[in-house]
Amino acid sequence: MRTVNAYAAPSAGAPLVPTTLERRDLGAHDVLIEIKYAGICHSDLHTVQGDWGPQQYPLTPGHEIAGIVTEVGAGVTRHAVGDRVGVGCMVNSCGECANCRAGDEQYCLDGAVMTYGAEDRDGTVTQGGYSTHVVVTEDFVLRIPEGIELDVAAPLLCAGITTFSPLNHWKAGPGKKVAVVGLGGLGHLGVKIAHAMGAEVTVLSQSLRKKEAGLALGADAYYATSDPQTFEELAGTFDLVLNTVSAKIDLDAHLSLLNVNGAMVNVGAPAEPLDVNVFSLLANRRTFAGSMIGGIGETQEMLDFCAEHGVGAEIEVISAEQINEAYERVQNSDVRYRFVIDTATLV
Ligand code: NAP
Ligand code: ZN
Repeated sequence: MRTVNAYAAPSAGAPLVPTTLERRDLGAHDVLIEIKYAGICHSDLHTVQGDWGPQQYPLTPGHEIAGIVTEVGAGVTRHAVGDRVGVGCMVNSCGECANCRAGDEQYCLDGAVMTYGAEDRDGTVTQGGYSTHVVVTEDFVLRIPEGIELDVAAPLLCAGITTFSPLNHWKAGPGKKVAVVGLGGLGHLGVKIAHAMGAEVTVLSQSLRKKEAGLALGADAYYATSDPQTFEELAGTFDLVLNTVSAKIDLDAHLSLLNVNGAMVNVGAPAEPLDVNVFSLLANRRTFAGSMIGGIGETQEMLDFCAEHGVGAEIEVISAEQINEAYERVQNSDVRYRFVIDTATLV
C-alpha cells in the first residue's frame, strides 16, 4: 500500500478537503500512474452532492485523469514506465460478457467498476483522480498520443469520449446538421469533435453570452434557447441534437428541432426525470436516446482522432485549494470550459 495526497468530500454536499488515500500494491497487470492533471466533470458535482443517490464518504472524485506511468506490474505488456497515459470513468469490467467482448465495457453485464465511489473487485471503494497517484489495471489505461498536452488531454477522458461516442454512433459527418445543447465541458468538446468530423454544428446555449468564443470553437451557428424565436426558426432542422445539459430542459421544444428520422441523444444526467409528450416523437419519426461514456477501444480511437485533428479541451488550470470555488462556478455555468486541477498542488 502507498499513501497519497488527495482531496475528498467528507459528506454529501460538503466542501472538499485535503486528505490522504491508500493505493493498493501493484498486481501483475497493474500500472502505477503519477497523476499530473485531473479534470472537474459536472458528474463529480452530481455525485458528491448525492444527486444520483447515496454515496460512501469520504469520497475523492475525478475521472478525467492524465499522467505518467511510474511503475508497472510484472505481467504488464501494454504500458511502460514513462508513458503518457490517461484514465477515464471506468477502471475495470468483467471482460467476458457479450458487451465487454463487443468493446462496450461501459455496459458490462456484470457492472463496470467506475473510477470513484464504486465497489472494486477487491471489495474496497474506488477513489478518483483528485489525487497524486492511482493504480489501475493495464487494460483500462489509455495512451495519450504525442501532440496533445496532458492538461488539455485530461478532459478528453470523460467529456471527450462522452460526446465522441454518440457523434460517432449517430454518424455525425459531412452533410449532417448537428446541434449541441449546453456549452460547458461536454458541450464545447462536442462542438469541436462534431466540427472535426465534418458536420455542420449549431450551439444552443442559454444565452448569447459565449457566442463569439463558441463560434471560434468551430460552430457554424449559435442560438439562445432563452429566446422562443430560436425554436421557431430552427424547427425541423437537425439530424442530431446532442443534449449535454446538467439540468432539466424542455424536451419537447428541443425534439421539435429534429428533421425526419432525427435523433436527440441525452448525455446530460440531471437528477430529475425529463418529461416528454409522445407526439414530439411521433412527428418526423424521431428518436430520443441516451449514451454513457464509451468503450475502452473507442476511447483510444477518440484520443487518436483528437490528436490527428488538433482537438484538446479549453481549460482553466487550478490549484487544489480552488476546487470548491470551481465547483460553485461549474454549478453556475461559469466555466470556459473545463477546470483542470494541477495535482502538484495536492500537498
Ligand atoms: P457543465 O460543464 O456544467 O456544462 C453543462 C452546461 O449546460 C452549462 O455550461 C450550461 O451551458 C448548460 N446548463 C446548465 N444549467 C442549465 C439549465 N438550467 N438550463 C439550460 N442549460 C443549462 O457540465 P458537464 O461536465 O459538461 O456535464 C454535463 C452533464 O453531462 C452533467 O449532467 C454530467 O453529469 C453529464 N455527464 C454524462 C456523461 C455520460 O456518460 N452520459 C458523462 C459525463 C457527464 P450554457 O451556459 O451554454 O447554457
Ligand atoms: Zn465525467
